[in-house]
Amino acid sequence: MSLGKRIDDLAILGGKPEFEYKLHVGRPNIGDREAFLARVNDMLDRKWLSNNGPYVQEFEARIAETLGVKHCVVMCNATLALEIAVRALGLSGEVIVPGFTAAATPHSLQWQYITPVFCDIKYATHNIDPDRVEDMITPRTTGILAVHLWGRPCDVEALQEIADRRGLKLLFDAAHAFGCTYKGKMIGGFGECEILSFHATKFLNSFEGGAVVTNDANLAHKARLMKVYGFEGPDNVIYIGTNAKMSEVCAAMGLTSLECLDDLISAYRANYLHYRKELAGIPGVSCIVYDDAVEKCNYQYLAVEVDGQTAGISRDLLVRLLHAENVLARRHFYPGCHKMEPYKSLFPHAGLLLPETEKLAARIMLLPTGTAVNVDEISRVCAIIRTAVENGPEITDRLNAQSGG
Ligand SMILES: *Cc1c(COP(=O)(O)O)cnc(C)c1O
Repeated sequence: MSLGKRIDDLAILGGKPEFEYKLHVGRPNIGDREAFLARVNDMLDRKWLSNNGPYVQEFEARIAETLGVKHCVVMCNATLALEIAVRALGLSGEVIVPGFTAAATPHSLQWQYITPVFCDIKYATHNIDPDRVEDMITPRTTGILAVHLWGRPCDVEALQEIADRRGLKLLFDAAHAFGCTYKGKMIGGFGECEILSFHATKFLNSFEGGAVVTNDANLAHKARLMKVYGFEGPDNVIYIGTNAKMSEVCAAMGLTSLECLDDLISAYRANYLHYRKELAGIPGVSCIVYDDAVEKCNYQYLAVEVDGQTAGISRDLLVRLLHAENVLARRHFYPGCHKMEPYKSLFPHAGLLLPETEKLAARIMLLPTGTAVNVDEISRVCAIIRTAVENGPEITDRLNAQSGG
């Protein structure tokens, strides 16, 4: 362990990278391999590979039970689950979404010609700001699609109050929020429905997967038909539908992941606490706050804010420097959905109403965590960051001299 990394050892200035292998953000968590393979063997013996098989049914029941919701409709991914939820709720015209989220969130609307109207976030929480939502409502608005970013809950009550008062449907992109709570209640049962992701990089992994969870029986029924082409019975299609079925092998992985939920949370929690300790006192670098004394959280996103002024090194240079050390930090969600196509062409001035989103998008980076990263590695990552911050201006000067000369 080379905890005392010196400026000349930095790979960006010609030294040797700290890690021989790459340390990724979003490395999948593999649960109990034997348990998964046993399920796959049973599945092959059964020869029931898709079409609402026994693993899919069991996975749905286990999720509903874990989250305390009445209905869980699993699908092949969260993007299609979002699209189906939006369609099943009958949304049209305009829907208000945060700009600081994954492209999948606004795409689920634009894909069906519903206009995503980007709303600013609260800097302190990274989540959609209810006070700004009100300003974005027009006669065409039919809904609010909020995101529990990093698994930290939105201000659900304030959003629900606006939705009720203005006659809007409220739904949540809960792709980050499996196992997290709002006011002590599991996320999953709020609004009209919530959408989960089980993509390989997400907290609970089924290779690819997603779900609509809701307490509304009609909505669940509609989503269930829409994910199988709108078939109600063998010869009877009653809606436009698509194919968003989850396969049995994915559900087998999902069930296996569910069995190690507690181990996963402890691994992420231990990593988070170690990062916090190691990053404490580095000027301009601050770790996102999770506090399970207030709300249960899954600690999955190791989001770090870099204030370039105070740190003496910009977020972007720090990310480049970490990449040179084989630490693949990511600038999520940079530059913000409103600055990506098709939205940046459709709404070239959207950023004027999103000052907090733009400020945050320029400062956040995600660091590697999860079961594939151990505390020694975290100490080494933090030592690199400390060296970079202690020598920010000199690193910048030397890089400028290199590229200038
Ligand atoms: C990953 C993600 C999605 C999309 O999930 P998929 O299952 O990959 O389709 C949607 N919203 C957010 C906030 C995400 O992070």
